[in-house]
Order: sequence, then C-alpha cells, then structure tokens
Amino acid sequence: MQTRTYTFILLLLLLSGCNHQIHQQQFYIFGTLVGISIWGVSEQKASEAINTIAKDFQSMHHNWHAWQKSPLTDLNQAIAAGQVWTEPSLLPLLKKSKHLYNQSDGLFNPAIGQLIKLWGFHSDDLSSEFIPPSPEKIAELVALAPSMEDIHSEGNQIYSTNRGVQLDFGAFAKGYAVDLAIEKLRQLGVQNAIINAGGNLKAIGKKGDKPWLIGIRHPNGTDILAAVAVSGEESVISSGNYERFREYEGVRYSHIIDPRNGKPAQGFSSVTVIARSGALADAASTALTVAGLQDWHRIARQMGIKYVMLVDEKGIVYVNPAMAKRVQFPADKKPQIIVSKPL
Ligand code: AMP
Ligand code: MG
Repeated sequence: MQTRTYTFILLLLLLSGCNHQIHQQQFYIFGTLVGISIWGVSEQKASEAINTIAKDFQSMHHNWHAWQKSPLTDLNQAIAAGQVWTEPSLLPLLKKSKHLYNQSDGLFNPAIGQLIKLWGFHSDDLSSEFIPPSPEKIAELVALAPSMEDIHSEGNQIYSTNRGVQLDFGAFAKGYAVDLAIEKLRQLGVQNAIINAGGNLKAIGKKGDKPWLIGIRHPNGTDILAAVAVSGEESVISSGNYERFREYEGVRYSHIIDPRNGKPAQGFSSVTVIARSGALADAASTALTVAGLQDWHRIARQMGIKYVMLVDEKGIVYVNPAMAKRVQFPADKKPQIIVSKPL
C-alpha cells in the first residue's frame, strides 16, 4: 500500500547553507506538506531528528487512516459488526478524544465517521464527481446518534455500545501528531523548533534571540491574513473550509460537519486557536467552527481556550481581547475586526 511502503517524498532540503543555525526540511505526509525548522543544534543532529519525526509521522498516518486499511479501519469494522477489538495503539487517542468531545458539548465528535464519508470526504480526490446526500440519508445517520460516550475500553479491549459509531480522527490527529513530535524533539535534545503540518503548527523555544513568527493563512487560501509571534511552547492551529471542500452547482460544502444536523458547518471560513496543547487547539478549532457565531465564545471558555481568531464568510474577523493584542495584520490589508468580550 502506498502509505505502508514508506513513501514520504522529500521535497526540499535546505540544510545550513548561508545560515549555520537554522535547519529546515519539508516532506509530504498526512495528505499535506509538513515543514520542520530546528534552531541551535548541529546539522547532523537536526537531520537525524527530522528523519525520526518523518518516520513517526508516517506511522501515525498509517495507524490513524480513516479510509485506507489501517488499525483504525479495522477497529471501525469491528464496531460495525458489534465485536470487541484489541488495539492498544489507539487507546491514548480514544481517551484524549473522549475528553475533548465532552469539553466541546459533542461539537468535536470523532464518532461521526459515517457522516463524514456520506459527504464525500473519505477520499484524497475532492474534485471527483459529487452530489450532496439526500436529507433522508443524513437524517438516518444523525438518528444513530454516534457519540464518543458509546466507546468503552477494558484493558486493551475496545468496544462500542452503538454500531453507528465510526471513528475519524481527522479533526485532531495533526494537532496531536505535532504534540508527539515536539515531545520527541525534546527527548532528542532539540530545544528550539517549529513543526508545521499543513497549518497545524507547534513551536518550542525561539529562533535565536527572537520569537518564532507565524503566518496565519487567509481563508482565500493564498494570502497571509495575520502574523503572530510565539515563544516557549505553543500550538497555532487553523481549521478552514479553504483546503478540503466539495462543490455542487456552485455551492461549497465544508469538510467540517455539524453532528447535530449532519450537515456541513456554515458561518466561519476559518478558525485559529492558540494553546499549548496541539490536540486541544485542533479539536477546539473544529468545535468552534461548528459552534458558529452564536456559541463559539461559550464553547471556547468551556474548553479552556485563551486565544481565538475566527473569520466569517464575509471576511469579518472576530477575536477575543487577548488574541487581539497578539495578532498583527498587514497595514494595507487590515480586515474589519470585532473584538469579543474576554474569554
Ligand atoms: P479540521 O481541519 O481540524 O477542522 O478537521 C476536519 C476533519 O475532521 C474533517 O475532514 C473530518 O475528517 C473530521 N470532522 C469533520 N467534522 C467533525 C466534527 N464535528 N467533529 C470531529 N471531527 C470532524
Ligand atoms: Mg481541528
């Protein structure tokens, strides 16, 4: 299988050269471009660390794949058949995602794999022919009420009390992956680094004597909307409908599904969350997209989020006051900004 055979493609190798301190590399994994920058260690150490992370990402990609055969699809098959399954490697993911599910009032719900598939998102080619599913089929899957509360484990054994559950960790896998990767870099003696998995980013330390400067993408998919400086340990994670979406008769359908009605979330084109934990920031960015303008503030508070920036479909930017102090917009392209009450 493609992912199995260790196929990450090294796209760019910019080791040292004019700068003796920064080591950067990019590769293609998780269906996205992953970039790693490391500061302040030898070229050899940086190169070894980057190779280790690339291999780790490759195995996470394989283990958590939601539609190509993987330990996760094996578990999903067992759930659909009402069987108990043993898969210790997935237990930490299940535990973490159950907690985040509860914190988000179920708006982050990795148990809705059937709905995600129904909307055509279990595919690498989203430009293929697509017709929106019928309201009856959507209602049928919503009525199954798949929830992370249906999933139970005893020792290494996993089972679901609801056969309608199909797990899909797409909403927080990359955030969790950058957490694990940063932890690994630390173990390897790297203190200053940044890992960017397609807009899901985590940094530690600094870039020399300066903080890391992060660009947050505009929901139009090309421009930079804003910049934010990070130092210490922080994740900057964005969810948006500009990367993965389906189109039918001129209407765009987001890959983020509202578990309450089974339909693609509407309202926000992009949501960025900053938090120490990448898994939390990733789950929150998805949950806040679903929560929409009415409810994002309450859900963010409930999840313990301190920094949020949301962009609606008209391009209006909503930020909480603490985030407003951190983000910088280009002077010539300042959007309309609405500052919320504090989180
Ligand atoms: P993200 O880009 O982090 O918002 O993740 C989006 C991905 O998460 C989608 O492509 C789906 O695989 C999955 N997903 C969609 N809606 C939800 C939801 N409400 N809760 C959890 N996962 C979801
Ligand atoms: Mg997410």
